[in-house]
Amino acid sequence: MQHHKLIIVGSGPAGYTAAIYAGRANLNPVIIEGIQPGGQLTTTTEVENFPGFAEGIDANELMDQMRQQCERFGTTIMSNIVTRCDLSKAPYHLWLDDENEMTCDSLIIATGATAKYLGLDDEKKYMGQGVSACATCDGFFYRKKVVAVVGGGDTACEEATYLAGLAKKVYLIVRKDKLRASKIMQERVLTNPNIEVLFLTNTLGLFGENGVEGAHLIYNKGGEDEREYDLAIDGFFLAIGHKPNSEVFLPWVKIDETGYIMTEGNSPRTGIPGVYAAGDVADPHYRQAVVAAGSGAKAAIEAEKYLATLQK
Ligand code: NDP
Repeated sequence: MQHHKLIIVGSGPAGYTAAIYAGRANLNPVIIEGIQPGGQLTTTTEVENFPGFAEGIDANELMDQMRQQCERFGTTIMSNIVTRCDLSKAPYHLWLDDENEMTCDSLIIATGATAKYLGLDDEKKYMGQGVSACATCDGFFYRKKVVAVVGGGDTACEEATYLAGLAKKVYLIVRKDKLRASKIMQERVLTNPNIEVLFLTNTLGLFGENGVEGAHLIYNKGGEDEREYDLAIDGFFLAIGHKPNSEVFLPWVKIDETGYIMTEGNSPRTGIPGVYAAGDVADPHYRQAVVAAGSGAKAAIEAEKYLATLQK
């Protein structure tokens, strides 16, 4: 059984940044990269809001640079998935792919979150070509264009409002006859002249030759006035929630009602000595690569301090 001082689970901006810091502190960290090497950013195209790249950078290139940067400082990257763990006491046990067992003195959980999709084949077909689950990341590419946002919660309202400042027109596609978002967010959407809310509407599919050119919609399915129609749009944004990838660390870590790992105050500490959570798995609010990277740095600094106390 392999034992390591520090294992980092996840290979998005939080995991890689934690490894860069831990590597430079001579901790020889090991990253278990998980199902999606490079994390959620690899599902987008260009990143224009990560500081340091005045002209923007291809998302895969950015993640590849981070990967090389942590390897440069002695990080070992394993392409496995953690399927089980025991965090009842140190050393902590992890099982990879249901087989190999590893132990560690300190653990950084940086498994991220997964945007929920409707499950349409067209979402996959047009991924990065008009379909996005992050308005803050991709909205800029839709300046003066027509976009649709799906969802009726706070995220959807926030994203629709953000996009309304950039796009020519925003449709908000809501499956019920009302919004679920907080009153203030609802008000912002309903009073914005650039946003048109399509209540009781579901998406059947997307179409377009070179990227999204429109959506097939259905109004009031099963109702007397049910109607199918096509809406011309250039971008289709999903905002129907995110699922934090925290299950594998249950029941050891505390989660909130939506599954995000709860940490102590503004720190990445989980309450289990030497176990930290960084990035989107512990962040229901910001969900930005740069924020995740910052929290990865914090987690590594905490881990370094914790490991130093073990050597005394
Ligand atoms: P929510 O779960 O609150 O809302 C999801 C929305 O997507 C709902 O309107 C839901 O519809 C809709 N939806 C879900 N599945 C489908 C589907 N298959 N087809 C069509 N529509 C669907 O998620 P959010 O991400 O909006 O928010 C998560 C949490 O984060 C909430 O607690 C929210 O308050 C919080 N948050 C707070 C913010 C803030 O304070 N500024 C900003 C963003 C989020 P239905 O209503 O019919 O179920």
